[in-house]
Amino acid sequence: MKVVLIGVGQAGGKVTQSLAQFDYDMGFDAVRGALAVNTARADLQNLDIDTALIGQDRVKGHGVGGDNELGAQVMQENATEVLDELDGRITTEAEAIVVVAGLGGGTGSGGAPMLARELKRIYEKPVYVLGILPGRDEGGLYQANAGRSLKTAAREADSLLLVDNDAWRGSGDSVAAGFERVNDAISQRVGLLFASGEAVEGVGESVVDSSEIINTLRGGGIASIGYASAEASEDAGENVNTITSVTRKALLTSMSLPNAVKADSALLVVAGDPERLSRKGVERARRWVEDQTGSMEVRGGDFPLGSDKIASLIVLSGVERSERVNEFMERATEAANSQGGTTDPDEFTNDQLDGLF
Ligand code: GDP
Repeated sequence: MKVVLIGVGQAGGKVTQSLAQFDYDMGFDAVRGALAVNTARADLQNLDIDTALIGQDRVKGHGVGGDNELGAQVMQENATEVLDELDGRITTEAEAIVVVAGLGGGTGSGGAPMLARELKRIYEKPVYVLGILPGRDEGGLYQANAGRSLKTAAREADSLLLVDNDAWRGSGDSVAAGFERVNDAISQRVGLLFASGEAVEGVGESVVDSSEIINTLRGGGIASIGYASAEASEDAGENVNTITSVTRKALLTSMSLPNAVKADSALLVVAGDPERLSRKGVERARRWVEDQTGSMEVRGGDFPLGSDKIASLIVLSGVERSERVNEFMERATEAANSQGGTTDPDEFTNDQLDGLF
């Protein structure tokens, strides 16, 4: 799937750069453009992708300091400038636009849903938000911001692909090392997803294409992604169990939103050397995903790659009713209440955001 990426805010810019770098290093060429937008000049200076500084009249390049209402406002006021900046980058070949942001901060949290809304008005292609949820031990302001931003992004985007900052962090990681690990994990998993729709070798009926990714996400709401791999035998017949076990591992232990398995639809991409992929294994794994997710809409496809490993990449769509999301929203509402400012996550969604238009 050919994509154009727009990172908003610090985390958004870093993850966008990391995704663009992974795609380039792997030679996939699925990422057709990348732009980082921020209100903080210093955060943009660390990046080597194209950048756009917005809101200078309001914050003079110093960022919005965790105020996501201000982040939304700045994006709204500068939407035309950002869209102009994107004009030549979002060409007809791009199949989707992905806005990337940390939902707990200010610029990305407020700005990303707003930008998604603007992009949807103009472009006839799907606009996704790749949103990062704050970890459990981050402060109340982050939780409260993310609660509001999550609801708004899920409503405005064609799909909100969520990554929980607690999902892929190592237990002994410092905050900085944790971010690095999570960013690498995001770029590998999401980068492979984009690339999987781009496979050219071994094109055949079973090879996944972009429309399958888009159709999986078509129902909207919240989506998640997971991945696991294992060494494979040269003999496809011996890989039936390898495929089912990496699929189990991907779904049960590696999702970007942990413990959210019930879904409206899903996509299972099995990557590996076509000579090593067992059709029986792939079909068995797909049926297992149907059972686990309770979804009758589980698409499957291969991603031919020259590797001696086999990997399963899973996308779940429609996971917003999961316990995990409820739990997070409770945490966010509680944090919002004790912030003493906006008391209800809905308030931002309904009054602030709509009021801005
Ligand atoms: P903004 O610049 O105002 O949009 O704010 P940030 O992008 O710094 O957003 C803060 C949120 O993003 C917090 O929840 C952080 O945990 C998270 N965050 C910041 N930097 C990174 C990063 O490099 N990787 C990840 N995964 N999360 C980050």
